Amino acid sequence: MEQLELLNRYQELARQVQTVENGLRNSPIRKKLLHARNYILTVQNNLKAMEDETAKIRATLDALSNRYASAAGKLEKESVHYTAADDESDAADVADMRGEVNGILNQFNALEKEVLNLLKKLSSMEQEIAKMATNIPKAKEDYAKTKVVYDAELAKVTEETAPLKAEMEKIEAQLPGDLVKNLKQISTKFANPLVALHGNRCGGCNMELSAATLKRLADSPVIECENCGRLVYQG
Ligand SMILES: [Zn+2]
Repeated sequence: MEQLELLNRYQELARQVQTVENGLRNSPIRKKLLHARNYILTVQNNLKAMEDETAKIRATLDALSNRYASAAGKLEKESVHYTAADDESDAADVADMRGEVNGILNQFNALEKEVLNLLKKLSSMEQEIAKMATNIPKAKEDYAKTKVVYDAELAKVTEETAPLKAEMEKIEAQLPGDLVKNLKQISTKFANPLVALHGNRCGGCNMELSAATLKRLADSPVIECENCGRLVYQG
């Protein structure tokens, strides 16, 4: 076979391989598989985030509990002083003590509210975490089942494309390396990487080719369009 024929055949084979592979790539089973995988990843990420969040809440609760204990100790101490105040005590001292006790009581109330809110949040998060955690095994099972079906489809695709790819390899061996390399590269940009010359214009982008480039077509089966890069042959 001549180089141009080989190139055309190569391109045809590449198109067939792509059609078969795209069939699987766009298939419902692959979408289902990706969806199942994403679901598991999302749940796992959410779980991790919530576990981090609950750890933070626990740390805050611990800190509050420490503050509570220290405030309780202080209150105890002040109460003793307050009840021990006798007639000799300065009215101002009593007022000071009362002020301090009230301050500590207020701190107590504020902490209690904060603690209750955090506990409520923690409990609802823990419920949500438990719910999510029970969904994971089922999701993993669904994924595994879908994967079996997908793998069977993939095996069919591989079986179907193997002879096409084998023929492509044979053709590659018969053509200059850079020619196939160019064709592959242009194929990623254009659906029609190999085009005929129309008059003295590229059949792909319709730009006029220079006289020097056209002259090279006399010695070579294909030339590269200087505008779009497609491989152009004498039509
Ligand atoms: Zn062109």
